[in-house]
Amino acid sequence: MDLSRASLVALSRASFGALRGAMFRDLGLNAASVLQEAGYAGGAELFDAFAAWLSTRGFGAPETLAASDFAARATEFFGEIGWGSLELSAAGPVATIDSSNWAEADPAQPMEFPCCYYTSGALADFFGRLAGQPLAVMEVECRSSGQERCRFLVGSGDVLQAVYDGMGRGESYLEVLGAQ
Ligand SMILES: [Zn+2]
Repeated sequence: MDLSRASLVALSRASFGALRGAMFRDLGLNAASVLQEAGYAGGAELFDAFAAWLSTRGFGAPETLAASDFAARATEFFGEIGWGSLELSAAGPVATIDSSNWAEADPAQPMEFPCCYYTSGALADFFGRLAGQPLAVMEVECRSSGQERCRFLVGSGDVLQAVYDGMGRGESYLEVLGAQ
Protein backbone atom coordinates (compact mmCIF):
# COMPACT_ATOMS: atom_id res chain seq x y z
CA MET A 1 0.00 0.00 0.00
CA ASP A 2 1.49 3.32 -1.11
CA LEU A 3 0.17 5.57 1.66
CA SER A 4 1.09 8.84 0.08
CA ARG A 5 -0.59 8.01 -3.23
CA ALA A 6 -3.68 7.00 -1.28
CA SER A 7 -3.67 10.32 0.65
CA LEU A 8 -3.16 8.42 3.90
CA VAL A 9 -0.60 9.02 6.62
CA ALA A 10 0.84 6.46 8.99
CA LEU A 11 0.27 7.30 12.63
CA SER A 12 1.46 5.16 15.51
CA ARG A 13 -1.16 3.64 17.83
CA ALA A 14 0.57 5.32 20.76
CA SER A 15 0.31 8.71 19.12
CA PHE A 16 -3.33 8.25 18.19
CA GLY A 17 -4.05 7.04 21.74
CA ALA A 18 -2.31 10.07 23.24
CA LEU A 19 -4.28 12.39 20.98
CA ARG A 20 -7.58 10.79 21.99
CA GLY A 21 -6.64 10.76 25.66
CA ALA A 22 -5.71 14.44 25.62
CA MET A 23 -8.94 15.32 23.83
CA PHE A 24 -11.12 13.53 26.38
CA ARG A 25 -9.07 15.09 29.21
CA ASP A 26 -9.35 18.64 27.89
CA LEU A 27 -12.64 18.66 25.97
CA GLY A 28 -14.65 16.19 28.04
CA LEU A 29 -17.50 14.66 26.10
CA ASN A 30 -17.08 17.25 23.32
CA ALA A 31 -14.14 15.11 22.22
CA ALA A 32 -16.67 12.60 20.90
CA SER A 33 -18.17 14.84 18.24
CA VAL A 34 -14.77 16.27 17.28
CA LEU A 35 -13.34 12.80 16.74
CA GLN A 36 -16.43 11.68 14.85
CA GLU A 37 -16.26 14.72 12.60
CA ALA A 38 -12.58 14.07 11.88
CA GLY A 39 -13.25 10.44 11.04
CA TYR A 40 -16.16 11.33 8.79
CA ALA A 41 -14.06 13.92 6.95
CA GLY A 42 -11.57 11.20 5.98
CA GLY A 43 -14.14 8.72 4.71
CA ALA A 44 -13.85 9.72 1.07
CA GLU A 45 -10.09 9.22 0.93
CA LEU A 46 -10.40 5.96 2.81
CA PHE A 47 -13.01 4.71 0.36
CA ASP A 48 -10.90 5.81 -2.62
CA ALA A 49 -7.88 4.07 -1.10
CA PHE A 50 -9.92 0.88 -0.74
CA ALA A 51 -11.10 1.15 -4.35
CA ALA A 52 -7.51 1.62 -5.57
CA TRP A 53 -6.33 -1.25 -3.36
CA LEU A 54 -9.02 -3.51 -4.85
CA SER A 55 -8.11 -2.46 -8.36
CA THR A 56 -4.42 -3.37 -7.93
CA ARG A 57 -5.60 -6.86 -6.87
CA GLY A 58 -7.79 -7.30 -9.93
CA PHE A 59 -11.13 -6.68 -8.22
CA GLY A 60 -13.82 -4.31 -9.43
CA ALA A 61 -15.20 -1.27 -7.61
CA PRO A 62 -16.24 -1.81 -3.97
CA GLU A 63 -19.95 -1.52 -4.71
CA THR A 64 -19.74 -4.27 -7.36
CA LEU A 65 -18.35 -6.93 -5.00
CA ALA A 66 -20.62 -9.68 -3.71
CA ALA A 67 -21.29 -9.31 0.02
CA SER A 68 -19.01 -12.19 1.00
CA ASP A 69 -16.19 -10.90 -1.21
CA PHE A 70 -16.67 -7.43 0.15
CA ALA A 71 -16.42 -8.68 3.73
CA ALA A 72 -13.25 -10.64 3.02
CA ARG A 73 -11.54 -7.82 1.13
CA ALA A 74 -12.56 -5.09 3.58
CA THR A 75 -11.18 -7.21 6.43
CA GLU A 76 -7.91 -7.60 4.60
CA PHE A 77 -7.72 -3.90 3.69
CA PHE A 78 -8.41 -2.51 7.16
CA GLY A 79 -6.03 -5.04 8.67
CA GLU A 80 -3.30 -4.10 6.22
CA ILE A 81 -3.58 -0.38 6.96
CA GLY A 82 -3.27 -1.09 10.67
CA TRP A 83 -6.78 -0.67 12.06
CA GLY A 84 -7.20 -4.27 13.11
CA SER A 85 -9.34 -7.23 12.22
CA LEU A 86 -13.01 -6.95 11.53
CA GLU A 87 -15.96 -9.24 11.00
CA LEU A 88 -19.09 -8.20 9.16
CA SER A 89 -22.48 -9.65 9.94
CA ALA A 90 -26.06 -8.52 10.52
CA ALA A 91 -28.45 -8.11 13.44
CA GLY A 92 -32.02 -7.52 12.29
CA PRO A 93 -32.13 -4.33 10.20
CA VAL A 94 -28.51 -3.30 10.75
CA ALA A 95 -25.09 -4.52 9.69
CA THR A 96 -22.62 -5.26 12.48
CA ILE A 97 -18.88 -4.76 12.38
CA ASP A 98 -16.96 -6.52 15.15
CA SER A 99 -13.30 -6.24 16.03
CA SER A 100 -11.33 -7.81 18.85
CA ASN A 101 -8.26 -5.63 18.35
CA TRP A 102 -9.39 -2.34 16.80
CA ALA A 103 -6.68 0.33 16.99
CA GLU A 104 -8.85 3.09 18.42
CA ALA A 105 -9.85 1.06 21.49
CA ASP A 106 -7.58 1.16 24.49
CA PRO A 107 -8.45 -0.87 27.59
CA ALA A 108 -5.58 0.94 29.35
CA GLN A 109 -7.62 4.17 29.15
CA PRO A 110 -10.93 2.85 30.50
CA MET A 111 -14.07 4.75 29.55
CA GLU A 112 -17.62 4.46 30.75
CA PHE A 113 -19.11 4.22 27.26
CA PRO A 114 -17.99 2.80 23.91
CA CYS A 115 -15.74 5.50 22.55
CA CYS A 116 -14.23 4.65 19.14
CA TYR A 117 -15.72 7.87 17.83
CA TYR A 118 -13.18 8.52 15.11
CA THR A 119 -13.89 5.07 13.70
CA SER A 120 -17.66 5.56 13.92
CA GLY A 121 -17.36 8.71 11.81
CA ALA A 122 -15.03 7.12 9.29
CA LEU A 123 -17.18 4.00 8.89
CA ALA A 124 -20.36 6.06 8.51
CA ASP A 125 -18.93 7.88 5.52
CA PHE A 126 -17.22 4.77 4.14
CA PHE A 127 -20.34 2.57 4.24
CA GLY A 128 -22.56 5.44 3.13
CA ARG A 129 -20.46 5.67 -0.03
CA LEU A 130 -20.70 1.95 -0.51
CA ALA A 131 -24.48 1.96 -0.10
CA GLY A 132 -24.99 5.16 -2.10
CA GLN A 133 -27.08 6.64 0.71
CA PRO A 134 -26.38 8.27 4.06
CA LEU A 135 -25.83 5.76 6.86
CA ALA A 136 -25.23 6.14 10.55
CA VAL A 137 -22.82 4.15 12.71
CA MET A 138 -23.10 3.61 16.44
CA GLU A 139 -20.69 1.66 18.60
CA VAL A 140 -22.51 -0.47 21.17
CA GLU A 141 -19.67 -2.54 22.65
CA CYS A 142 -16.08 -1.40 23.08
CA ARG A 143 -12.83 -2.75 24.49
CA SER A 144 -12.30 0.72 26.00
CA SER A 145 -15.39 0.21 28.16
CA GLY A 146 -14.56 -3.29 29.32
CA GLN A 147 -16.06 -5.46 26.60
CA GLU A 148 -14.13 -8.10 24.68
CA ARG A 149 -14.73 -6.53 21.33
CA CYS A 150 -15.74 -3.32 19.63
CA ARG A 151 -19.07 -3.70 17.87
CA PHE A 152 -20.37 -1.06 15.48
CA LEU A 153 -23.93 -1.02 14.16
CA VAL A 154 -24.37 0.36 10.65
CA GLY A 155 -27.84 1.36 9.54
CA SER A 156 -30.26 4.14 8.80
CA GLY A 157 -30.31 7.13 11.10
CA ASP A 158 -33.90 6.28 12.18
CA VAL A 159 -33.08 2.73 13.19
CA LEU A 160 -29.98 3.76 15.13
CA GLN A 161 -31.88 6.56 16.84
CA ALA A 162 -34.40 3.95 18.01
CA VAL A 163 -31.53 1.80 19.31
CA TYR A 164 -30.04 4.79 21.11
CA ASP A 165 -33.39 5.68 22.67
CA GLY A 166 -34.03 2.06 23.66
CA MET A 167 -30.64 1.76 25.32
CA GLY A 168 -31.38 5.01 27.16
CA ARG A 169 -34.46 3.25 28.61
CA GLY A 170 -32.31 0.34 29.72
CA GLU A 171 -33.06 -2.08 26.87
CA SER A 172 -30.26 -3.93 25.15
CA TYR A 173 -29.54 -3.03 21.54
CA LEU A 174 -30.40 -6.61 20.53
CA GLU A 175 -33.83 -6.28 22.12
CA VAL A 176 -34.48 -3.06 20.25
CA LEU A 177 -33.35 -4.66 16.99
CA GLY A 178 -35.46 -7.76 17.60
CA ALA A 179 -32.32 -9.77 17.00
CA GLN A 180 -32.07 -11.80 20.21
ZN1 LIG B 1 -14.27 0.57 20.49
